Amino acid sequence: MNWEPWTGCYPVSTGCNNCYFYGPNAKRFGQNEITKTDKFDWPIRRNKKGEYCIKGGKILATCFATDFFLPEADLWRKEAWAMIKERQDIDFLIITKRIDRFKESLPEDWGDGYDNVNIGCTVETQALADQRLPLFLSYPLKRRFIAASPLLEELDLSPYLAKVDHVTVCGENGRDGRLCEYAWIEKIQKQCQAAGKTFWFKSTGTRIRTQEEVVKVNPFKQGALAKSFQLDITDGKRLF
Ligand code: SF4
Repeated sequence: MNWEPWTGCYPVSTGCNNCYFYGPNAKRFGQNEITKTDKFDWPIRRNKKGEYCIKGGKILATCFATDFFLPEADLWRKEAWAMIKERQDIDFLIITKRIDRFKESLPEDWGDGYDNVNIGCTVETQALADQRLPLFLSYPLKRRFIAASPLLEELDLSPYLAKVDHVTVCGENGRDGRLCEYAWIEKIQKQCQAAGKTFWFKSTGTRIRTQEEVVKVNPFKQGALAKSFQLDITDGKRLF
């Protein structure tokens, strides 16, 4: 289930070049103007019986089609945090490429983090991993994971894994999705294995090289192909 309190975004790093939502070929959204959506208050919206429209026990993927930490959303984020705090019975999963804006974007009562907030820091290259992850790990957070998405080169995440719960990896999707090497994914999986962390190979992206062969993958088959490699490391809980 997704919650998009606002819409619109614009590139911040190389991983945005072919953004599914706001890149050159974006069909569904395609605009860079940041505006509130009509679902802004969705987590706390109630039906005629006075019950929450969204039942508890769910995971809400938050701002997956924009960025929670956009400066243009600063005025609305306080209200968004208040809704997140009110719904302790829902897990809010937030993935961002703007982790550098985390500290200045926190509510006053954040303390060492809300229990129901799980933040994923996106890294696409080693340079971005080395720039973003030390910051990410320095922040007060109860739950955190790394999203290597889109994975654009070989990464060594080992120095950062002790303080994260999980790693998700995706190749780049879209018509011009850049090549992803199976060997890169396998290396990250081994790093997670050595560190005792869960790992999810979520999607191959459009182009993946397995051994010598480059395979172009239909968008509807990228998740299933990733799963077929059987690289996932689970702890019995749902991967994210
Ligand atoms: S931050 Fe995410 S949503 Fe925004 S342009 Fe980059 S990839 Fe697209």
